[in-house]
Amino acid sequence: MIVMKFGGTSLQNAVCIRRAVDIVKQHRSRRPVVVVSAIGRTTQALVDLGQAALAGGHRATAPLLNDLLDRIILGGFGVDADTAAEIERGIDELGQNIARLLEGVSLLQQLTPRTQDAIMGHGERFSTLLFAAAAGAAGLNAVRVDATTVMITDERFRMARPHRDELRARARAILRPLIEGDDIPVIEGFVGATRDGVPTTMGFEASDYTASLLGAALEAEEIQIWTDVGGILTTGSAEIQNVMSISELSFEEAAELSFFGAKVLHPRTIDPAAEQNIPVRILHSLHPEGAGTTIFGASARWGGAVKSIALEEDIVFVRVSSQRAVPVHRTLESVGKMLDRHEVSPHLLSVSGHRVSLAVARTSKLDSVIGELGESLEVSREESCVIVSLVGADAGTVSGIATRAMGSIEDRPILLMSYGTSDDSVSLVVSAEDAHGALEKLHQEFFGDALPEGGFTLVDREVHP
Ligand code: ADP
Ligand code: MG
Repeated sequence: MIVMKFGGTSLQNAVCIRRAVDIVKQHRSRRPVVVVSAIGRTTQALVDLGQAALAGGHRATAPLLNDLLDRIILGGFGVDADTAAEIERGIDELGQNIARLLEGVSLLQQLTPRTQDAIMGHGERFSTLLFAAAAGAAGLNAVRVDATTVMITDERFRMARPHRDELRARARAILRPLIEGDDIPVIEGFVGATRDGVPTTMGFEASDYTASLLGAALEAEEIQIWTDVGGILTTGSAEIQNVMSISELSFEEAAELSFFGAKVLHPRTIDPAAEQNIPVRILHSLHPEGAGTTIFGASARWGGAVKSIALEEDIVFVRVSSQRAVPVHRTLESVGKMLDRHEVSPHLLSVSGHRVSLAVARTSKLDSVIGELGESLEVSREESCVIVSLVGADAGTVSGIATRAMGSIEDRPILLMSYGTSDDSVSLVVSAEDAHGALEKLHQEFFGDALPEGGFTLVDREVHP
């Protein structure tokens, strides 16, 4: 069996959903389990609704909720009148659930992470409803499976972690019989529930993670991530010319890329697949004939070369200094404790002399870390930075790469450079205003000339937007 995950951009409207159904149909003999994300921008709309209920009372949310529901009722499915009525009933029912939750928020004047999760998970529920209906109309036996019955997690609302053993047992008990009976299970990504059945969510964009967790639990032959690009590209930025798609990557390379901001894969996606050596394929839902990128264990082809450049935005560059008499490991210890207390994990950290430097995502938790450190240490912060990372197996150990990187970005100041720590990447921190220029120069330097035969395919932005 295989897992097929469709992202929000692949489910934007009825035409997209029907196209996704066609793709599933073509893979029918491989016994797919389908994982769906929320239809483009629905999750954000649900977050906004929660905030609106808190600020203005649930009556104020009625027009917003109606707008959302109107956007979801899509024509053009080609379903019969009965199915159309069933879809409408399903949407109504979900809308009423949301309205009840919003009423609770406004009555209690409280929006807890637990309630936010209950509200947010509805985005994916609309998707399974529509997808299953469209699949039924196309002659597939699609069965909606409620993710809260399968994806068992802890109680860290908004960032819930799966209980792997339990979810494996549930996936086998609930999904396997469906697959064996030739049904196609359609399940929500991103959503889970505690052991007591309280809905949770696993962090934005976590549907990729759902797909790989289910793939591992069911020992799938393959995990397919269907999205709006034709694979892992040499860089994700739409503003860079002559971008190419790469045919294969190793698990380590893909994990490193997603850690450093390549949004095409949620950062936790690779681990469950890699544990069981299940290939992950990235495919374009508008161009299903393309080969896309295959991520698997063995790819060491073209070792020592840069394969993709990731960009992590919204980074703050923080410097923590102590007096010279204080040994730097003490400063590091204080920084470490504070990061731990506020659950902040820096992307990069460097220690030198009497100073610790960090590149960290900009969040309110970081403000707390800096505020508290500032009570005893000298702390400076530089806003609006980015991390540019060159990723490829052994790219972090080949000496020429760092030199070429520094040379090619010319006079744009580098605030921090990480070389020699990771085998598979070299990272640079630069200011956001230099990001585009640096990325352009680096892409030209590493992908401007002849590349390994059969490894890279030029992406035609006209055809493959
Ligand atoms: P989905 O809705 O399918 O989950 P996402 O928007 O989350 O889609 O992920 C796809 C996007 O990831 C692409 O449109 C692209 O902008 C971005 N991206 C960032 N880095 C890369 C990369 N190296 N290769 C491909 N896409 C990338
Ligand atoms: Mg995504």
